[in-house]
Amino acid sequence: MSNKKYVYLFQEGNASMRNLLGGKGANLAEMTNLGIPVPEGFTVTTEACVKYYSDGKKIGEEISREIVQALRVVEQTTEKKFGSKENPLLVSVRSGARVSMPGMMDTILNLGLNDDTVEGVAKLTNNIRFAYDSYRRFIQMFSDVVMGIEKRKFENILDQVKEEKGVKFDTELDANDLKGIVNKFKELYKKELGKDFPQNPEEQLFEAVTAVFSSWDNPRAIVYRRLNDIPGDWGTAVNVQRMAFGNMGNTSGTGVAFTRDPATGEKTIFGEYLINAQGEDVVAGVRTPQPLKKLQQDLPECYEKFMGIAQKLENHYRDMQDMEFTIEQGKLYFLQTRNGKRTAEAALKIAVDLVKEGLLTKDEAILKVEPKQLDSVLHPTFDTQELKKAKAIASGLPASPGAACGKVYFTAEEAKVHHQAGEDVILVRLETSPEDIEGMVASEGILTVRGGMTSHAAVVARGMGTCCVAGCGDISVDEQSKTFQIGEKKFNEGDYISLDGSTGNVYDGRIKAVEPEISGHFGTFMAWADEIRKLKVRTNADTPKDAKQAVKFGAQGIGLCRTEHMFFEEDRIPAVREMIVAKSLEQRENALAKLLPMQREDFIGIYEAMEERPVTIRLLDPPLHEFLPSEEEDIEDLAKEMGISYEELKASVDSLHEFNPMMGHRGCRLAVSYPEIARMQARAIIEAAIDVRRRKGYNIMPEIMIPLVGEIKELKFVKDTIKEVVDQIIEKENINMEYKIGTMIEIPRAAITADEIAKEAEFFSFGTNDLTQMTFGFSRDDAAKFLNYYYDNKIYEFDPFQKLDQNGVGKLVKMASELGKQTRPDIKLGICGEHGGDPSSVEFCHNVGLNYVSCSPYRVPIARLAAAQAQVKNPRQ
Ligand code: ADP
Ligand code: MG
Ligand code: MG
Repeated sequence: MSNKKYVYLFQEGNASMRNLLGGKGANLAEMTNLGIPVPEGFTVTTEACVKYYSDGKKIGEEISREIVQALRVVEQTTEKKFGSKENPLLVSVRSGARVSMPGMMDTILNLGLNDDTVEGVAKLTNNIRFAYDSYRRFIQMFSDVVMGIEKRKFENILDQVKEEKGVKFDTELDANDLKGIVNKFKELYKKELGKDFPQNPEEQLFEAVTAVFSSWDNPRAIVYRRLNDIPGDWGTAVNVQRMAFGNMGNTSGTGVAFTRDPATGEKTIFGEYLINAQGEDVVAGVRTPQPLKKLQQDLPECYEKFMGIAQKLENHYRDMQDMEFTIEQGKLYFLQTRNGKRTAEAALKIAVDLVKEGLLTKDEAILKVEPKQLDSVLHPTFDTQELKKAKAIASGLPASPGAACGKVYFTAEEAKVHHQAGEDVILVRLETSPEDIEGMVASEGILTVRGGMTSHAAVVARGMGTCCVAGCGDISVDEQSKTFQIGEKKFNEGDYISLDGSTGNVYDGRIKAVEPEISGHFGTFMAWADEIRKLKVRTNADTPKDAKQAVKFGAQGIGLCRTEHMFFEEDRIPAVREMIVAKSLEQRENALAKLLPMQREDFIGIYEAMEERPVTIRLLDPPLHEFLPSEEEDIEDLAKEMGISYEELKASVDSLHEFNPMMGHRGCRLAVSYPEIARMQARAIIEAAIDVRRRKGYNIMPEIMIPLVGEIKELKFVKDTIKEVVDQIIEKENINMEYKIGTMIEIPRAAITADEIAKEAEFFSFGTNDLTQMTFGFSRDDAAKFLNYYYDNKIYEFDPFQKLDQNGVGKLVKMASELGKQTRPDIKLGICGEHGGDPSSVEFCHNVGLNYVSCSPYRVPIARLAAAQAQVKNPRQ
């Protein structure tokens, strides 16, 4: 028997207990203790959820007993009783994990209703309609969420009754209609499950709690967790709370609100509500909600009170709040508050404003923006000139800003498939639901017909930084025939449209977009990040254009310049091929002599773009067969072009064939077999540096990087080869130029023998793409085929090629860093794999003391922010 406590009354918790009570539960407790009106209730902890799973998906006796105890306390304070015919207690059962997972877990309202208590409620409130309205909602939610009966089947019954009656809205149904619906719902339940709808409230409660726990592991939740780096072993808490009724007539209602505009960050209350409605009605887009400002006319006292509490909450949490409230016959209740999701633009403005308002320090403000979110402000917006020329064909709500252009598809599945085929996709739906999540991720933009600014599509799109236009009633979608119509014009699957998520406009065809800039709040915020961080950020760039873009985004150098990309260009590839098929050293040197001036020009361009910032250039890395064709026809054509026989070329191609190219003749192995290639590259690197130094006066110190080293002697061999060339040139040119020769650490053996390697290497750059492949023993290109099975079976929770595997690959990085420093205390350490732009991996690099991370140009600002956050969380030096 443990003495763990699994259930907390709201008055027993507080905001700091988020891990245990979940975000929703912790904030309900905090609000309760701040004296804000919150309906009474309790939270079953995340630890109870973990125990539920470890007990074989069962709620054990301890937890059951604590739940019943807490229920009794709520009964006493509310003076109501569960299952009582006279004064029944009704509750909601709500999930809530540590971090909010919108739409992933389902809430059950009005639990405790049965054929008896519904009559009690009717008598007590003198409102039969209300009682049966609540009951039918409960049966539907319970059946759907707990028992898995399709919601649609209930909605069909409802629609049918409305149609028979000739009305449009639920609110137009009277008590008798609703009674009839309740009976039909119960019949449906019995037909589907072969048993009666449960009448015992405690049984209902335990079934509901179980359902919330098991929803933690539904496929939607698993996908969402993977996309958002949420560990599977956190579990969710369950909140059980007395119902406040927003559906008791025209002095009742329910709504959601933000203390600042979640799209722009402007300091103004922003919200929507519905009179005489309950729960999800606002977000589900059943009726079109009213803007919050109108509550001032409808229920002025409630409005005043609401505004006061909203301000109090924002000051208390020192952040923009997203709140849910319900008014029961003129009495206001708060049902939820949390730090609101917001667009990147809003996040930046709010962070900067909160510092100016004195609510946050710069260090605190830095933590308020998700690094990954910056992605959306780093993406293009429509060119203003082009936009002026374009004519909007429809408009909806500007639900999530940004510009998107792509081909329309009507299902999440098709969006996914076409995205994988390399198309830009716009997902067009009547409305989205959590099942659409993967299709939404795959889309450049999302267009929905129904739903408001707080609809599922809007909330999820903002969270992902994807452009979204919601509630676009101008279009009519035919999901069956996969078309939509705007006025006269019909659009088919695959047609292009453009969306402006900042204005809500929809355009026919394609509109040119422009590159973003770091200015305004964004600029201020990033300057703070740079003041704070210790970890430097470089970029992976192979061309002067990329290098310049990266500098604009704040790159402090190039961590990886791949020389092979240049070899693929049309004017070089013939010389490269000549070099590959060369029969003798002389032939090969002839071909290399043609490449030398071109390669030198490449490096000159890059040095000029980077000015005095450090540039690391890697010697040729890929296996040579990548430069030759593999199809018979192409070989034939190329042979003709090169003036050699088909047989001769085919023989070259065949001789380069490898069973495992990833582990084949590549990296420094090329330089060991053909030192003349390395010599040519070294010459180009150093001559370019001397040229730029003489013409521009930049003090350049080239960094030459030898890839795929696993053994010190091979490193020494290649190093000696290039050193000889470089020193000769420097001497001949009579110039005082320093340079560095270092290596990539991307083979486990190099990491393990890093103390030896450091004798020859002046810097290490962790090539974590290869290091991950070689450590796991599976290839990045083939892993996609089986990784999904690993996610499904919870063997892996994330893609180790995107997020550094800290326990395995990370351990090698840490160990190699330490070993390297033992031999050479001033060794420079960096990382240049994909992971260099992944926030949690950047944090890891900061923590193990690397000097810099290097990532693609568009990720540079993300890495800068992640590095600053890492410094705030774990200060170093
Ligand atoms: P989500 O996490 O999806 O927002 P919630 O648990 O917040 O789910 O529940 C959804 C909605 O249900 C709330 O916004 C609120 O309107 C309604 N609701 C939940 N609990 C209660 C309650 N005790 N009384 C009245 N309405 C409730
Ligand atoms: Mg919900
Ligand atoms: Mg909620």
